[in-house]
Amino acid sequence: MPDDQAAYFERPHDQRYFAPEIETMPREQIEKHREETLLGDLIPWAYERSGLIRETWDAAKVTPADVQSMDDFHEKVPFIDKDAIRSYRDRHNDPYGGLLCIEPRTRGVFSAIFSTSGTTGDPTPAPSAGGGPSFLVREFWEFGCRPGDYFTETLFTFRGPGIHDTIRAIGATPVFVDHGSADMPFLFAANEKYRPTAMYNMSLAILMGVQQHAPAMGVDPEKSFASYKGISWAGEPIGPRARRITDDWGLELFQHTALGDVGAATECREHDGAHYWEDTAYAESLDPLGTDPVADETPGELVTSTLIDKIAPLIRYRSDDLVRRTLAPCACGRTHGRIWTLGRKGDEVVVEGRSVLPMDVWHAIELVDETSSGIFQIIRPQREVDVLRLRVGYRDDGKKGLGDLQERVTASVAEALGVVPDVELVTNESLLKLGPPHKIPRVTKA
Ligand SMILES: [Zn+2]
Repeated sequence: MPDDQAAYFERPHDQRYFAPEIETMPREQIEKHREETLLGDLIPWAYERSGLIRETWDAAKVTPADVQSMDDFHEKVPFIDKDAIRSYRDRHNDPYGGLLCIEPRTRGVFSAIFSTSGTTGDPTPAPSAGGGPSFLVREFWEFGCRPGDYFTETLFTFRGPGIHDTIRAIGATPVFVDHGSADMPFLFAANEKYRPTAMYNMSLAILMGVQQHAPAMGVDPEKSFASYKGISWAGEPIGPRARRITDDWGLELFQHTALGDVGAATECREHDGAHYWEDTAYAESLDPLGTDPVADETPGELVTSTLIDKIAPLIRYRSDDLVRRTLAPCACGRTHGRIWTLGRKGDEVVVEGRSVLPMDVWHAIELVDETSSGIFQIIRPQREVDVLRLRVGYRDDGKKGLGDLQERVTASVAEALGVVPDVELVTNESLLKLGPPHKIPRVTKA
């Protein structure tokens, strides 16, 4: 990223890439940069300063001197995961889980603590480094946002750093909209007045809010959102129904997802996987129950290492995310890797020897009219279960009785999965109350 802020305003507005020299970097150069940064800089730095990294490496009898090549890295460097961070936090009474590499009071470097969206119930505080724009400038540029534009930023429980700084870095002006349904009239008014070109982030809750308020207010969503060139969708995959509605409104959605807590991955205009930036992070895809790498395009667990975060660096972090990954260049011309998120390792249920993830159930539930909102939970007391238990939300339109809804949902899921589920029906409203406003936990113990 150029240090000179003025450089942002100077690039040609019709240029496709925000940082062409980085975004289309040849793979050999990506790999050289990774090796130099990770081995020469991040690892010695983290080992010296991070209590968790030091403890984990010492237990594995590995020191930075043992890691002279990426082969050494793959062979020797031990993994860390969320449980290790929590365990360190509890044993050492260290709120940062042994990750912090600087003094908490260091001025100007350490600007905020934020929590990730926390659907798993134990939000892990993540220290945030400094202010200033993030690498999302590249994505926001790809959405079509340009200097002088307005950019809608919705607020919700994920308080990631620097989004508004990133919007300003492009030379655009953020328009803040609350995520709740009550703020929809403001969103319509802002759309009308400022004609924003991009949004970070649309979600199921906003979608339902728009659907609820637009007719009564005489708003045509297609006209209201006509100025938007790109809108990110985060938190969970875009279901087919959300896709249909947003297609009707003429919205171009860009799937945006976390990259194992070291960064983010976002679709480009090709919508063929989410790019992550390999100058900022190294992502491995490994056997979820082992340590061997899986082939490109094969489901694996995402294991990440930062190349830029010296405040609380994660090195070989097992993210629990199941992804498909490819390193093949994208049709957009970018050379960095892409992922497709499949679900969380901890969400996988095995029924009759068959692996089931929320995404597998989703479409079957959306096919049934009354449950087409796709609001449901898998009840998972443990990984292997005898019966697939589902709690499914339905639209309560005040009509009497549910008729044969239960049988139809059961049949739809059974046809999709080859497994007959046990379905509990509840109203959409009561299920939505369970989550943070932008999503509900798709998997629950009871
Ligand atoms: Zn692309």
